[in-house]
Amino acid sequence: MNLINFSLETESRYDRHNLIEWWDQNKLKKAKILVTGVGALGNEVLKNLALLGVENLTLIDFDQVSISNLTRSILFRETDVNLPKVEVAKQRLLDINPELNITTINGDLEFDLRLGFVQEHDLIIGCLDSINARWVINQLAYRAGIPWLNGGIGVSEGEVSFFDPKEDTACYECSLSSQMWERRNKRYSCQGLKRELPDMAMPTTAPIASVVSAMQVQQALLYIHGDESFLKSGEKIFVSFKPWHSFKVNIQRQKDCLSHDFKVKKTIKIKYNPHLTVGELLAKIKQNNDLNPVLWLRNEILHQMICLNPNCNFREIINQPLRQYNETKLNCPHCQKERDLEIIEKISSENSHLNLTFKDLCIFENEILYCETKQGKINIHFV
Ligand SMILES: [Zn+2]
Ligand SMILES: [Zn+2]
Repeated sequence: MNLINFSLETESRYDRHNLIEWWDQNKLKKAKILVTGVGALGNEVLKNLALLGVENLTLIDFDQVSISNLTRSILFRETDVNLPKVEVAKQRLLDINPELNITTINGDLEFDLRLGFVQEHDLIIGCLDSINARWVINQLAYRAGIPWLNGGIGVSEGEVSFFDPKEDTACYECSLSSQMWERRNKRYSCQGLKRELPDMAMPTTAPIASVVSAMQVQQALLYIHGDESFLKSGEKIFVSFKPWHSFKVNIQRQKDCLSHDFKVKKTIKIKYNPHLTVGELLAKIKQNNDLNPVLWLRNEILHQMICLNPNCNFREIINQPLRQYNETKLNCPHCQKERDLEIIEKISSENSHLNLTFKDLCIFENEILYCETKQGKINIHFV
């Protein structure tokens, strides 16, 4: 019998991996993966990545551990209730594999991830439970040029899809039906302000989370090895266990889907300074011979609110992303009448907002913004 002799002296953590012919543990060691969402899927995905020895992980989630998470979350305990999910997950992952380098963001993936930071990763794994969160990650992935893996779970069915911006294949937005858009848009008022909706608790269990996350991590593993034998970009696998059923589809690429317009060839770097005004920035770009550059913000900014009551006229400076501002604050705090919103989505030299600073416009270090110029679209990376 050809048994391999594992003596305690020579055995090391990844010996069983190294018996696999095509395996390259070094590729896993070097890969950097952004895991968005540390719920049922996120727990399982992270556990598998830690066991595999994928050493560089970034975790983002804004939530705290709750008692009802404990039926599906291998990294959480009863004593962790009310603690930030990302911090608890980090400690448990380091118990599993002390060699990991883990970065945590206890925040909102829509407003707390900078594009330059996203670009430092090789792959994004989406462990999300809402259409809006998936749409946001799709936008980030296509703007950053980083592939992403989407997972979704129900009671006894789930799906995994893979989207690579380097390929001219379908993205997540291409797969959205009009009903899905409707569901997503319910989160916002007609002006685009955030609506307070009750949290929809989704019925699900550990076995389906284990299966779907295992498929996500298997795809990540193969992608890191340059192997396309499981999922190609634009493909989706659906599985059901009650009754058993599975199929793979090619998602249709929608010709008018806007997510694919993000490809920009040229990037210029500008030193970040929160007090720099947009006027000063545009002047710098003009020095490079462009007469009329137009800077696009990544999130529309609610600049100010003006009371429509002629006897009041109260003006309030807000300077916050529009989608983050709560609809309940729409009316004037003085006279309770409706207010007009001044929203900024782009700035050119003819604009009246040239005195606003990066800080006012919620532009942070390591962000990348688009600028339309005579030479076509360019990216501006604030370093
Ligand atoms: Zn698309
Ligand atoms: Zn008023």
